Amino acid sequence: MARKRVALRPDTTLAPAGRPEDEVYVRGLPVCCLGSLKEEVLARRGGSPDERRLLKLECGFCGREWVVTSSLDDRVLGRFVTHGGPRVAAQTGGKHPAA
Ligand SMILES: [Zn+2]
Repeated sequence: MARKRVALRPDTTLAPAGRPEDEVYVRGLPVCCLGSLKEEVLARRGGSPDERRLLKLECGFCGREWVVTSSLDDRVLGRFVTHGGPRVAAQTGGKHPAA
């Protein structure tokens, strides 16, 4: 299969798992993690819309885990569950931040 270059929308943001305050834009990801993200986004196994989305990205190179906190990119949204950042959590008044 030919490898296509993908450009992800720059307004996608991610945060290290468990550390939403360290949110970064997709461009701020380590190169290896960005590569893992692109691979996941492109890996449309089956391509079914009912396919279960991933809760987090686990980088196969460095082992870091990231959650998608915000994205307007359909390909990202179709692949990952988005986790609201601190602002969203405050608005919903739901959970206490992990101490
Ligand atoms: Zn990585």
